[in-house]
Amino acid sequence: MRNGEVSYWWQALGGFPPRRPSLPGPTEADVCIVGGGYTGLWTAYYLAGLRPGLRIVVLEAAFAGYGASGRNGGWVTAELPGSRARYARAAGGAAGVKELEAALRSTVDEVGRVCAAESIDCDFLKGGRLSVATTPSQLARMRMSLAASREWGDGDDVQGFLTRDETRSRVNVAGALGGLYAPASARIQPAALAAGVAAAAERRGVEIYEATPVSVIRPAGFGQVGAVAQTKFGDVRARSVLRCIEGYTAALPGLRRMLLPMNSHMVVTEPLSSTAWQEIGWDGCETLSDEAHAYMYAQRTADGRIALGGRGIPYRFASAVDHLGQTDQSTVAALTGVLRRLFPAAASAKIQHAWCGVLGVPRDWCASVTYSAASGMGWAGGYTGHGVAAANLAGRTLADLVTGEQSPLAALPWVGHRSRTWEPEPARWTGVHGLYALYRLADRLESDPADSRVRLGEALGRVGDVVSGIPH
Ligand SMILES: Cc1cc2nc3c(=O)[nH]c(=O)nc-3n(C[C@H](O)[C@H](O)[C@H](O)COP(=O)(O)OP(=O)(O)OC[C@H]3O[C@@H](n4cnc5c(N)ncnc54)[C@H](O)[C@@H]3O)c2cc1C
Repeated sequence: MRNGEVSYWWQALGGFPPRRPSLPGPTEADVCIVGGGYTGLWTAYYLAGLRPGLRIVVLEAAFAGYGASGRNGGWVTAELPGSRARYARAAGGAAGVKELEAALRSTVDEVGRVCAAESIDCDFLKGGRLSVATTPSQLARMRMSLAASREWGDGDDVQGFLTRDETRSRVNVAGALGGLYAPASARIQPAALAAGVAAAAERRGVEIYEATPVSVIRPAGFGQVGAVAQTKFGDVRARSVLRCIEGYTAALPGLRRMLLPMNSHMVVTEPLSSTAWQEIGWDGCETLSDEAHAYMYAQRTADGRIALGGRGIPYRFASAVDHLGQTDQSTVAALTGVLRRLFPAAASAKIQHAWCGVLGVPRDWCASVTYSAASGMGWAGGYTGHGVAAANLAGRTLADLVTGEQSPLAALPWVGHRSRTWEPEPARWTGVHGLYALYRLADRLESDPADSRVRLGEALGRVGDVVSGIPH
């Protein structure tokens, strides 16, 4: 089994991409984007489309798509990165939240549209999202979440309930008792999308410099316009400097407690036999998850494998990040166990690759898109694991904010959203590890309906949600 090497997705494309040059020296630009993941690349792509004359420079510490954007589960999903109630405190109220949700749904199609227009071959397939319940407790949570969604005004076009048989006729998940199906979700090959958007941005004249870590982002100084991104190769001075480094934010001075780098881990099987696929179904290639507290997410890849992810070790002390996506054996064993339990037909399939990455979690679990025309500084991120579609919408929004476009996107409730900072260490590490230990215990207690401690499991899960503030 290969471990790390950034991700299976990059290795499936033939290994790391050819390295672009580093920043040749100090320079000036109209817009400097720090970070070459989906957020930075989409922002550059749309900005260059809106204002073809701008000099747009992307500074990337490793290579475009090195971070979560080249490692994720490949769900282009319309799930809200945050809590309706918290976003509804913004000026637009509940109506603003509905607009954000509608914008996220249409973003799934926008990603598909650009992939077609720019010939980005990333296995985009809009098969919807299927969430399965495999215990009565999960089923009860699913019904509650559907009831809340109906109260909010969402119909079957947003998400609907599937019976046990309807669920299993889509994907034969062992023990499935029912499911929720949401049409606005697509499957992709994540690294192929990152590589494709980078190339599309370059075709629009964007300059991408790799192996160019930014050490400091600061205002240009008294009497000067804009901001500065400092690198060991020299400074980039620009009217606008945009921070697009999500899970890596804590490494920049002054931002240690802003976004928690949460780990997510993945495994991928070898290609399954046609007999196994006949048994499993999954012909619609829905993005798939369960309703466990420590939930799993999965996709059927275009090359006939199952790629499945979950939390594993959730966080490294003092916001440390992984080395090239290497993950630990206990997490690989746990994810393999989940895969084999849910898909007995794939039980003998070898796990070919495991890796991990970091995503950015704000203390209130709500994402932000922020720009100040006065300082020229902005950022977007904190998508809490729902960043693939959200980064496209955030990129379009940042592009509108920088150019001053009168756009409805600029009024969405995540624009200018502020979250409080995370607790200092060791409270941060203890809290996150305690939470996931609680969730795992709750899942274990819920797993056997005959066990008298099922209710205790459900209660512990609720306590975890309330204490952490994780929206459901
Ligand atoms: C394993 C995993 C599975 C996931 N699955 C899904 C999923 O299925 N669906 C979904 O919606 N979301 C998922 N996510 C979340 C999603 O991938 C991210 O939210 C999204 O990709 C964030 O994009 P980004 O561009 O903001 O950050 P990133 O993709 O992390 O990009 C940031 C870039 O900035 C660079 N960088 C960092 N520091 C600096 C610096 N100082 N100077 C210059 N460059 C720097 C990094 O090298 C990196 O390339 C997953 C995340 C992980 C880790």
